[in-house]
Amino acid sequence: MFDYLGYSQKSTKRIIWIFALTMVIFTLLLCINFYILFQSTKTNIVGSGEHDAEQAAAEIDCFLIESIDAVKYTAYRVDNMLDAGASTDEIEQFLVEQTEVCRIELNDDTTGVYGVVSGEYLDGVGWVPDEDYVPEERQWYIAAKENNGEVALVSPYYDKQTGNMVMSISKMLKDGKSVISIDVGLDELQSMTVKRLPEGAGNYTLVLDSDGVVVAHSAASKRGESYLSGTGTLGNVMAEKLFSTDARHFEFQYNGNRYVVFSGKIENDWYALTIMNENVLYGPLKIIYFMFFIVLIFFLGIISLFFVKLNKRHIETDNLNMQLRSISSIYKISYLIDFNTDTFEEIISTDEIRALLINGQEHAMDTLKLIMNMKASDISKRSIEQFLDVSTLDERLSNSKTIAIEFLNDNNIWCRGRFIVVDKNDDGTLRHAMWMVEVIDEEKRQRDNLQMLSETDRMTGILNRGGGEAKIREMLDSGRSGMFCLMDADKFKSINDNYGHGVGDKVLIEIANCLKKSFRDNDIVLRLGGDEFAAYAPTVLNEKVGQQIIDRFFYNIDLINIPELKDRKICISMGVAFYKPEDDFSFDELYKRADHGTYISKKHEGNYVTFEGQED
Ligand code: GH3
Ligand code: MG
Repeated sequence: MFDYLGYSQKSTKRIIWIFALTMVIFTLLLCINFYILFQSTKTNIVGSGEHDAEQAAAEIDCFLIESIDAVKYTAYRVDNMLDAGASTDEIEQFLVEQTEVCRIELNDDTTGVYGVVSGEYLDGVGWVPDEDYVPEERQWYIAAKENNGEVALVSPYYDKQTGNMVMSISKMLKDGKSVISIDVGLDELQSMTVKRLPEGAGNYTLVLDSDGVVVAHSAASKRGESYLSGTGTLGNVMAEKLFSTDARHFEFQYNGNRYVVFSGKIENDWYALTIMNENVLYGPLKIIYFMFFIVLIFFLGIISLFFVKLNKRHIETDNLNMQLRSISSIYKISYLIDFNTDTFEEIISTDEIRALLINGQEHAMDTLKLIMNMKASDISKRSIEQFLDVSTLDERLSNSKTIAIEFLNDNNIWCRGRFIVVDKNDDGTLRHAMWMVEVIDEEKRQRDNLQMLSETDRMTGILNRGGGEAKIREMLDSGRSGMFCLMDADKFKSINDNYGHGVGDKVLIEIANCLKKSFRDNDIVLRLGGDEFAAYAPTVLNEKVGQQIIDRFFYNIDLINIPELKDRKICISMGVAFYKPEDDFSFDELYKRADHGTYISKKHEGNYVTFEGQED
């Protein structure tokens, strides 16, 4: 029993610990996994951003290369024409043709091919400059010269003539002073830039040239701005970082927001850039991150609740075990009986009894009878068997939660067996009850002793009024008919008065002894108080038999020899009443009848008895 309880306690604790450890490891693994997933998703987002920027750069490159090739081709042809000694008119005619080709192959915004050839300004669309127009002072000319034969992309500018954002692409010819140039409209570049703008506030796409000038921007008004010359704007902060790093993506802080920049490099050190607000970029990821922790906290909350409950149950089990342990120190046998299935469950038992239960745990009441028959002493066997009678059990437990029986066991030790109702069926019959046996030997002996003391007259040692009367009443109630005698010592006061109270006491003790000697062992003799005594002799139902006992008593009274009394005799007046088998009156009535006899006897000298119905 204890081993079993100890084991269950230990195993519950171990289960809690294993469970807690598993949960911690599980949570840790979950967090690590989620962190890895989070990081790889972030890397993927960054990778895809870089990839988009590269694609944009490639697209823009493609757009520019067509124009650059057109310039290169025109310059090459003009160089050849010059070598072949072609006239400026012929060359201008060629530029007109090229302008047509470019408009078809490049875009309609192209203002045409123009340039300075052999010191003369030639124009493919026939534009005649003002007189103060000095081509050598124009950016397209200066940049081409600076690039020394390489194609120059000249910063975009607002073309007054077309009202568009245009950019010149120019190339110096072999003679070192002639320059061929083409103006390319940037509207297509602009629409390309706008097209790849990712959704979300704070996101931008733009193309930046090598001087930090905005060539195209998803916010069209930004076009032409120089990000490297100003300070304090988002563009300035971004451009400074861009020109100081080689990274394909970087982050920066602006106005309390964090931005991520993906850059792709284009021809001539231009950049295709995507600026993304970090909240927009990682927003969904952050929501997932947040949701994960909410779910995790919720999950841990549920687990904690479960733990608290488990722990509470554990404490309850501990308490129950403690209670059971204290119960088992009182009860030697305890079974939980299921009357519906006629089975039982052992709660407390002994190895000796367990060895008896070879037939399992069925036939609960038969098994119980077998056990109790073996454990009860011979004199208790019958009462125990009656007590265990299952046919009357429901009735006996109908108004009470428990019934008990005291019995002597096979070692002559007093025990108490008890049924305790656990629950009942809907029809009121027993469903579960506990059968418990405790040792009450000590208690029983103490109780018996106390009862004996309370029922005994201290001075004479026979029953006192309470004890004796109760026993007579019990006999009358159980229909045990017999003879009732009431006795009173004659002139007892005078004995007290003449010889002292001590002598009086001796007389009372002697009268009690005479009663004990004269009546049978099973008769009840008692002192009612003072000099009054009584006796009940069951089975004595007529005067003849009664007279014999009374004669014996009077004879013994006569023999009383108390030296202090010298020759003085003790005399008793007695009244007798019978309780016949057919009688049904109370003890008080019996007493009254005998008392009447005593009253009559008092009128006579010496020992005298008056039977009921006998008058003076
Ligand atoms: P009667 O013949 O009418 O019975 O007269 P009696 O003197 O015997 O009077 P009664 O029976 O009424 O009185 C009994 C006396 O017994 C009264 C009381 O003083 C005395 N007595 C009562 N209890 C004790 C006791 O415990 N010891 C002694 N010594 N005397 C007692
Ligand atoms: Mg008297």
